[in-house]
Amino acid sequence: MRGRELRGELDAFLAETEQDLVAFRRDLHMHPELAFAEYRTTQRIVERLTAAGLTPSVLPRGTGLVCDVGSGDGPTVALRADIDALPLQDEKDVSYRSTVAGACHACGHDVHTTVLLGTSLFLAQQAAAGLLPGRVRLIFQPAEELPGGALEVMAHGGISGVDRIFGLHCDPRVDVGQVGLRPGPITSACDKLSIRVSGPGGHTARPHLTADLVFALAKILTELPAALSRRVDPRSSLSLVWGRVEAGTAANAIPDDGIAEGTVRCLDENAWHAAPDLIKSLLDSVAGAYGIEAELDYKRGVPPVVNDEVSVEMLAEAAERVLGAGAVIPTQQSLGGEDFAWYLESIPGAFARLGTRSPAGVTYDIHQGTFDVDEKAIAMGVRIMAATALTALWEVGPLDSITSAMA
Ligand SMILES: [Zn+2]
Ligand SMILES: [Zn+2]
Repeated sequence: MRGRELRGELDAFLAETEQDLVAFRRDLHMHPELAFAEYRTTQRIVERLTAAGLTPSVLPRGTGLVCDVGSGDGPTVALRADIDALPLQDEKDVSYRSTVAGACHACGHDVHTTVLLGTSLFLAQQAAAGLLPGRVRLIFQPAEELPGGALEVMAHGGISGVDRIFGLHCDPRVDVGQVGLRPGPITSACDKLSIRVSGPGGHTARPHLTADLVFALAKILTELPAALSRRVDPRSSLSLVWGRVEAGTAANAIPDDGIAEGTVRCLDENAWHAAPDLIKSLLDSVAGAYGIEAELDYKRGVPPVVNDEVSVEMLAEAAERVLGAGAVIPTQQSLGGEDFAWYLESIPGAFARLGTRSPAGVTYDIHQGTFDVDEKAIAMGVRIMAATALTALWEVGPLDSITSAMA
């Protein structure tokens, strides 16, 4: 069986390339680039893929790329890494510290990129040896942090013809050598909304002759979250929380406008899709009752990443095959957002959490200037991604390609 040989093949490949991959990661770490400005990063990846005999295709903006390994026949499995850095200062004291002021790979996307590069090189070897029973689409996605890079990839056909997609994210609370997984939602949705209310204004002695805008705004602030808690399935954990409210300048004057801003977080995809229309209708009914005008500006973030059960099983099986029994641990749904969600709205797939903490070492957090990883996680990531792609191809592939892969 192919699966049994895979572990040894990966070990041999990594014995030769692990140091080189660590150096590649450190180079990216020293030269972080922000969303849609990942030109150098893109170039570095292109150079390495081209040298391995692959034909990468850079996205039209010049940042991010896709590249196929293997033949066009049979199933296609996509592997995705995000390549952008964050606009914050690197606070680490290490030789590979960021050389760019105000930019840092503090979300581990340099690790994701390196893992996918290593996986690409391994799969290219497998394809050259006639051991790839289908096609693997490598997606080096720009601008995850914006977010929106996933939509850019999709707009240019990045997942057309793809049967299944997989991705990883560094998890500094999980030890290196382990991978966190969960079927169903694993990240959350987060949107922003802004409400502007307006009315004629007037003297506080005569609210009945004008529209009492401040009172109406207060009703909106309390009624909307209350009504949502009764109109939406509580299991979706949809929550509207205000962060800013402003109206008026004097104690005895009813103002003619006001503003309220907040976020909508949600664990459930259906509730997330329904949220803007529902909030709009609740807002109209409360504002209408008090005779004021209300305008809603609803800014969509990302939907939750909802892991497909079969894909989770494939990833878990693959990870155990190459990392050993007990490597896969359950993980919780986080309240963070991740634009991998956009792919999973179109095709099934799974997103996993790659352990990056040194056993008994410091627990870092992502989006902090001190964030760093145990670099052994790179080789672990390559093992998981390569094995996942092959497992998915073996399991979804037509019978003849499985037979030829086993021959
Ligand atoms: Zn991030
Ligand atoms: Zn990230």
